[in-house]
Amino acid sequence: MIKAQQKPFDEIRGMLGNAKNVLILGCGTCVTICFAGGEKEVAILASLLRMAEDIDNGDRQFREHTVKRQCEWEFLDGAAEEVKNADLVVSLACGIGVQATAQRYPDKPVVPGVNTSFLGLILEQGIWSERCVACGNCVLDKTGGICPVARCSKSLLNGPCGGSVGGKCEISPEVDCAWQLIHDKLTAAGRAEELEEITPPKDWRTSQSGGPRKIVREDLRV
Ligand code: SF4
Ligand code: SF4
Repeated sequence: MIKAQQKPFDEIRGMLGNAKNVLILGCGTCVTICFAGGEKEVAILASLLRMAEDIDNGDRQFREHTVKRQCEWEFLDGAAEEVKNADLVVSLACGIGVQATAQRYPDKPVVPGVNTSFLGLILEQGIWSERCVACGNCVLDKTGGICPVARCSKSLLNGPCGGSVGGKCEISPEVDCAWQLIHDKLTAAGRAEELEEITPPKDWRTSQSGGPRKIVREDLRV
């Protein structure tokens, strides 16, 4: 899932400008799961903003609304009335939801309340870890289900750089060396000899390096 973190309070408040009626718009999927922008976070942020406004003798009003997913039009349309009545929307969705909201309501200022961080996995309560950068050409079949693109600090595709110490990446003793993990996994699976195969240069045009991407499924179009 997409992982995100709420922006610092002062940064969010600094984006409000002259807006008098502010809608805090949450998203009920990815950012709810990682406690960045669901209904609860919307309520907490709105309360903090109201308190700050009271302290400053301001007159801004804050409304709260959460849709199931800001990245799907049918759910986003459910917020139409709330958006219409606001001068500005603080979206607590990921960058996709923020952009979808801005696109659906073109005359409405929409600002991001979270920093979209990565595609990742929860390891334990309160700890998330990156697992995929959506390169567009998955190689997990060759690497024991461990992504060298996202999890090797150099995105190496043909084995380790030689800098790992004790199974940890040279960038930090806190970070596993992806290639140590791949080696251990393939060895445990009796596939260690596959490590000797040379992986040809990856076609990065399918990644974000090739520019904005799009999927077109003619069989699904109407
Ligand atoms: S190889 Fe590409 S698609 Fe597969 S997990 Fe890694 S980044 Fe994601
Ligand atoms: S130490 Fe391992 S994870 Fe780190 S850059 Fe080298 S090969 Fe990649």
